[in-house]
Parts: sequence; C-alpha cells; structure tokens
Amino acid sequence: MFDAIVIGAGVIGCSIARELSRYDIKIGVLESEVDVATGSSGANSAIVHAGYDCQAGSMMARMNVWGNSLYDVVSKELDVPFKRIGSLVLAFDEEDMNEIQKLFEQGQKNGVPGLKILSAQEVLQMEPNINSNIIAALWAPSAGITCPYELTVAMAENAIQNGVEFFLGYGVENIKRDGNIFNIKTTQGEFKTKYIINCAGVFSDDINRMLGGEEFKIIPRRGEYCLYDRKLGDMVKRVIFQPPSSLGKGVLVTPTVDGNLLIGPNAVDIDTKEDTSTTSWGLNFVYTKALRTIPSLGRRDVIRVFSGIRAVADTGDFILGASDEIPGLFYAAGICSPGLSAAPAIGQYMAELVYKYAGNINAKFNFNPYRKGIPRFRELNWSEKEKLIKGDNRYGQIVCRCETVTEGQIIEAINRPLPALTIDAIKRRTRAGMGRCQGGFCTPKIMEILNRERGIPLDEITKGSGRSYIVSGRIKEGLRGDK
Ligand SMILES: Cc1cc2nc3c(=O)[nH]c(=O)nc-3n(C[C@H](O)[C@H](O)[C@H](O)COP(=O)(O)OP(=O)(O)OC[C@H]3O[C@@H](n4cnc5c(N)ncnc54)[C@H](O)[C@@H]3O)c2cc1C
Repeated sequence: MFDAIVIGAGVIGCSIARELSRYDIKIGVLESEVDVATGSSGANSAIVHAGYDCQAGSMMARMNVWGNSLYDVVSKELDVPFKRIGSLVLAFDEEDMNEIQKLFEQGQKNGVPGLKILSAQEVLQMEPNINSNIIAALWAPSAGITCPYELTVAMAENAIQNGVEFFLGYGVENIKRDGNIFNIKTTQGEFKTKYIINCAGVFSDDINRMLGGEEFKIIPRRGEYCLYDRKLGDMVKRVIFQPPSSLGKGVLVTPTVDGNLLIGPNAVDIDTKEDTSTTSWGLNFVYTKALRTIPSLGRRDVIRVFSGIRAVADTGDFILGASDEIPGLFYAAGICSPGLSAAPAIGQYMAELVYKYAGNINAKFNFNPYRKGIPRFRELNWSEKEKLIKGDNRYGQIVCRCETVTEGQIIEAINRPLPALTIDAIKRRTRAGMGRCQGGFCTPKIMEILNRERGIPLDEITKGSGRSYIVSGRIKEGLRGDK
C-alpha cells in the first residue's frame, strides 16, 4: 500500500516524485515505457525559457519564471548541465517590432529579470552569423539551455536515493476508488494508494477519465527538429527565436548543452498521441524558417532528425491542482512548453499541495538533495582521465568514438539504481550513439556489454520500448530454418 503514486515518469512526474520524497511517506512511480523521459521530456528544444511569452497571470507564466529561477540550484544538486546563455527574439519589420514590444511588456508583468530591447547593431555584435536584415531584438539574459533527459534521469535517481520506488513498464490500465483508497490496475499487477498524481503527459486526459475526474482534452501537437554536428555548435551563442505565432514559440536556432546546433520545431496538431514521425514537409519548413535567422546555414551537417509531441490542454493553460470531484486525485496535466522550464517549480508546487491535503505527514530528516552523475569522460582534463582509468581500466576503453564514451561509463549506466537496459536508455545517460555516426559503430559493442553485464540475449536487446529488436537471430540459423 502506497501513500502516493505518481503516474508518468517524464520530467514533471520525476520532479514531483523527487519533491515528495522530502516527506516521510511511501511513494511509487508507474511508467508504461521501459525508461524515464521517453515522452515529451525526451524530445524538445531543451530551453529554460525566461517567461516573457506566457500570458500574464497564467499558471504557465508563474511556473515558468519560478522554475527558471530554481535551475542553478537544482542543476548543481543533481549534477546536470545547465547554461544560462540568454535568448534573443529577432524583429525583421515594424510588425515584429510591435510583437517584441508586447513580449517585453508581458515579460515585465511576469517578473522576468533583465529584459531589454537591443538595436540591430548590438545584436549583430553579439551574434555575427545571424541575418543582418534584423532591425532589433528582445534580449532575455535569464534564458538558458539544459539536457531534458539527463535532468529527468537525475530527478528520478535522486528520488530513488530518497526512497521512491519506480515501476518501469507498468502502464496504468484502469483505476477504481474504494472508500479512501485507489486501486490501480497496470499491465504488470495491481497497486493500492491513498493519493494519485496524474502526470501522464498526452494521456493525462485518459487517466482522469478512468476515474471520472474533471474533464479536459489534451491535443497532441507535434514539433520536428534537425540536429547538427558539433562542428556547427558555435554558429550562435544564444537561443535565437523569431516572433511567436498562435501555435507556439516559432522556429528557434540554438546551441545545445553538448555543443551541437539545433533548429526547430514546427507545430502541427495530429490525431494520434504517439506519432513521432518526421515529414519532409515539416523538416523543410523548419529549415526554411531557420534560414531566415542564419542565411548561411546549410543542410549537409544535419546528423539526426526527430520529433516530440506537446500535450496542449484545451483550457489554454497548465492544469495543476487537486481534484474537486475525486478526493485524493491530483493532476499536472497539459504541460506543454514551457513545461521543462517550469518542472522544478511544478514539483515543489504539487508536493506542497499533497502535503497540505494529507495533513499529518512529516518532513524526512535525512533527505539528500544531491545526486552524482556518471563521469563525462570527454569533458575531463588529462589528469582526471588518468585518475579515473587508474581506478577502473574500463574507463580507458573508448566505445563511442564520436562522443568519446568509455566502457566504464556504459557499465555504470547499466548498473545504477535506475538501470539503463536498452540502447536508447544507455544513450540518454552517456551520449553513446549521439554523435555523427549515430551509433553505427558503437551499437554492436554496447549490445555485447549489455549481454555480458545483464545476461540479456543479443536478440532480446531492444532499441527502446516494445519489440524494437536490433537483431533477430543468426543468419546461419535462419538459413537452416532453425528459427
Ligand atoms: C516539440 C517540443 C518542444 C518543447 N520545447 C520546450 C522547451 O524548449 N522548453 C520547455 O520548457 N518546454 C518545452 N517543451 C515542453 C516540455 O517538453 C514538456 O512540458 C515536458 O516534457 C512535459 O513533461 P511531462 O512529464 O508532463 O510529459 P512526458 O514527458 O510526456 O511524460 C509523461 C509520461 O507519462 C507516461 N504515461 C502515459 N500514459 C501512461 C499510463 N497509462 N501509465 C503509465 N505511464 C503513462 C508516458 O509514457 C510518459 O513517460 C517542448 C515540448 C515539445 C513536444
């Protein structure tokens, strides 16, 4: 029997689980996929927005600005990369000028620090590669970049350190309320709990419907991206936006925390909640828009294209709170952009709601906010590398040549308390397979390590969830008809 069960292990569910683990209660997290950060939290722009583009007075505005202010501390505690590089919204004509003036005023109402409208000359001095036809830009120094899946993994690991139990591969199928207790039926067994926190992303409306809680609708809105090789990583030094549209913040150009260049996303409402395909139309749109920001941008150095799905609520705002209809049900739903920026604040806000509702729970005297990440071999200096290799010579074996990831890092990812047991899970934690060759060289080696460390047969190793097998047997057995 649990006190609280969080449904969904994206950045929101993991942030709430971590914040709840400050209290002396039994907490579980149910996630249908085999790893954390496989939904929106694994595929987004990775921007910690300043907060000027959310409507004044909205939950989005409040959580964005508050969340942004927590990033320095949270990233340090969790050993996650975060760079406060600032953002620019470019204006190309008078219409854009009105738009950035509106954003400036809205940002002031939202409490965004340091906003300024800069002249074209000032902007071009800061960013010499951008379009010289701009006439001005809105500068927001508090914006930053992070790594969304590393943050989610780190929040989950820190929650585990503090006693939270994670159940990966446990999809919630049905929920019934019996007196003050919820009975949750999952794909792998039943759970009982006093409180539920619904953080199921695009499926959070379906979860609420299982219980007869408040009705809302989640509209899946896809965004596609092109990721460039690291050699283009310093094309821009800040996050560069064009003025937003009714569908979102528009196509941005940004460096990533790992030194790549990212362009995207578009914004297209789709019918199915899991359709993360990319389209030539969408990618062409993204590229054409990005060209307006950087006219010299080519396409040769794109190393990956991908898409993510925003969970847009029909209410037009984040849906955060306690249900009026079902006592003990809480929800953090409709967390589209800027949900990543808001995540640390949403975690605190929701944990506080549960604490107040529960009434008699105590703070944990031994809560530990610190989590140490896997060493980032590539970023170490020579003496640090030498020390690591002396301690364990598997740190001297390079497995992923593009990203300089060692066998030691991969073994650590496989054996941590939240183990990485798929190729994608290892990639999210170590960056093995994220470089120019996109895993062409290292995937077979990683499969051998997984097989050796965990005894998973090679033909049962998957890329991600479901039946995403990488090999299907031995050619000779296939030819003989053995399999
Ligand atoms: C294209 C795009 C760009 C974005 N850019 C930014 C940005 O730059 N900055 C920013 O601040 N925000 C951005 N966002 C928003 C941000 O990514 C999201 O707000 C955030 O990731 C939402 O996290 P979540 O935990 O609510 O959802 P998710 O990460 O989707 O997690 C929900 C989880 O619930 C699980 N689940 C669903 N149903 C069940 C079930 N029945 N049982 C068990 N588990 C279930 C899912 O498997 C999933 O893991 C962007 C989003 C997108 C898609």
